[in-house]
Amino acid sequence: MRPPVLTPLFAGLNTLSGIGPKFLKLFAQLLGNDEPRFLDALFHLPHSVIDRRARPKLREVQPDTIVTVEVHIDKHKPAPPRGRAPHRVLAHDETNDIEFVFFGMPRERIEKMLPAGEKRFVSGKAILYDGRLQMTHPDRVVDEAGLAKLAAVEPVYPLTQGLSNAMLRRACTAASDRLPELPEWIDGAFLRAKRYDSFRLSMRRMHAPEEPSDVEALSIQRSRLAYDELLAHQLALALVRSDMKREPGRAHTANGRLQAKIEAALPFSLTQSQRRAVDEIKADLSSGERMLRLLQGDVGSGKTLVALLAAAHVIESGKQAVIMAPTEVLARQHHARIAPLAEAAGIRTEILTGRERGAPRNALLTDLANGSIQLLVGTHAVFQDDVAFADLALAVVDEQHRFGVHQRLALADKGEAADVLVMTATPIPRTLVLTYFGDMDVSELREKPAGRMPIETVAVALERLHEVVEAVRRAVDSGARAYWICPLVEESEEVDFAAAEERFAHLQELFGAQAGLVHGRMKAADKDEAMERFASGATPVLVATTVVEVGVDVPEATIIVIEHAERFGLAQLHQLRGRVGRGHEKSTCLLLYRAPPGPTAKRRLETMRETQDGFRIAEEDLALRGEGEILGTRQSGMPGFKIADASLHRDLLETARRDAALIVTNDPALKSARGEALRILLHLFEREDAVRLLDAG
Ligand code: ADP
Ligand code: MG
Repeated sequence: MRPPVLTPLFAGLNTLSGIGPKFLKLFAQLLGNDEPRFLDALFHLPHSVIDRRARPKLREVQPDTIVTVEVHIDKHKPAPPRGRAPHRVLAHDETNDIEFVFFGMPRERIEKMLPAGEKRFVSGKAILYDGRLQMTHPDRVVDEAGLAKLAAVEPVYPLTQGLSNAMLRRACTAASDRLPELPEWIDGAFLRAKRYDSFRLSMRRMHAPEEPSDVEALSIQRSRLAYDELLAHQLALALVRSDMKREPGRAHTANGRLQAKIEAALPFSLTQSQRRAVDEIKADLSSGERMLRLLQGDVGSGKTLVALLAAAHVIESGKQAVIMAPTEVLARQHHARIAPLAEAAGIRTEILTGRERGAPRNALLTDLANGSIQLLVGTHAVFQDDVAFADLALAVVDEQHRFGVHQRLALADKGEAADVLVMTATPIPRTLVLTYFGDMDVSELREKPAGRMPIETVAVALERLHEVVEAVRRAVDSGARAYWICPLVEESEEVDFAAAEERFAHLQELFGAQAGLVHGRMKAADKDEAMERFASGATPVLVATTVVEVGVDVPEATIIVIEHAERFGLAQLHQLRGRVGRGHEKSTCLLLYRAPPGPTAKRRLETMRETQDGFRIAEEDLALRGEGEILGTRQSGMPGFKIADASLHRDLLETARRDAALIVTNDPALKSARGEALRILLHLFEREDAVRLLDAG
């Protein structure tokens, strides 16, 4: 059960005044939670600050810097009724004059904000225009009383279109106000050595920084929070591991009859790596020890087939298997691919997602419980309490980029000592495997299936967009299918992104009904439909946000255009590129970038051109990220983590891992005072399934 001290943080953000359904939707999107809570806002940390501490006299103002000046308002020069001239306000202090400039703002509002004859504090960026001091649209205008409340160091948050920084500040401040003082879970000696503040103080300094450096990636405060997150993750992993070890595994024997049937139905033969991985898995399944294995394989390396062959092994021994995908689209795709092979081997397979309802669902559950369904493919819907297996022996979790222990846990819960195979399409540098997955055995698919053509990768400056469009048009005219990837609609509005919808409108003008659109804000059913229309060739151009990144397989697609490629991280570019080159045709990846690219972006583009080896790209990605990207952008940080970053917090990670191991050895049931505090930590970072497991055991 969740510790009551945390209750206020788990309340919905909708309870905050001024957040109606429209804003709630935007928060949901930004915070990555359909029902955003104060907790989500709490962990939404600023990426930078606006420093309003400079309070110079007008004569000392440095042009092009943010200042807060104290001025006497002299006079208004309203905009003429027609034309584009702005409203000007003249003001002074004892050293100089300044002019405030407003475009398209109602006169009454400006007059009320800056009443002539009075004193005001005005904050914003001052410039020198024709030798005179000016400020266009000041950020803040306050009187004496307002000044006391003005944040001198103002946090700036990652935003989304339609949500202002002010809205974010309000939500995040409210969240940090709800954060109570919590018992300390960090080891005392470590805490003192690092001179960490409490969790609460550290968090409050993020949302109400005193110094600009407070929000920096390596500030004491942020490091502490990163450590907390790493510790929660490592502890959860260690608890799962120790729990799995406690229950002995079962040996599943099979002579390969089903595997042979499946292989006979394949139009190709297994790659060396696939064969090796299958053998490793079968050895685990046949042994009495419980399997906890990671199958790492680059996009298109053929993991699904390995999963099916693993399933066939336990099914042949009379038990059941489940394969779980992170999204509906992927679950359906896996199922569509698996079903004919399973049928050839006489394996009964069904699909279960949130969409299966009512009588068909009930019938499915019955057949699952009596064992007549041998292989279930699904989404997280398979976790629902009423989903029971007759004898689940193997759970395959296709995690793609989502690294969460809790899905593995919930699945393993459904079977008596079920063996667990986790698949990931993100090649993870060896050094990081432990971080994400704890102590797991690893199988790798390094080899690509035969017959794959290399993907030609070209970087093109955005100015040559029209040429790219023309090239795509010609290719489409001769029957090709092309992805057109735009950066997320939900990214920061500060940055000049080409929004998918805009680009879609543009491409639609050129391609008419041949262009389709798929993005994260669409309903699952609409997304599937858009994907299907692309797959069938009805809309051979698919404008998409990165939703297609996650494993979608349309072998006929041979072109992928990635707009603003310089904004994507290497790993993500690699994932995206992997959407093409899946068939037997030659494929092309066009990386459109805004010139000139920065040094990091340049190296990324070069790496993409040079190699298709996901493991090499992963290493390079880690190295580049270490060179300090802006926080809060999509490519920084580790997937699945909110604060910690593998490249920045590597030492903390090691400490957290060692600490977690110690904790599990010394206080396996988390019963000590520190253990109690650690339970709160697990809840705070939502790794509480590990706690549940403790108490059940
Ligand atoms: P991953 O999940 O690793 O990205 P998939 O399992 O989706 O890769 O496989 C990608 C494609 O390659 C599928 O169309 C699959 O049928 C095909 N495939 C898998 N193994 C082989 C192989 N050994 N030879 C040829 N094609 C293969
Ligand atoms: Mg796959």
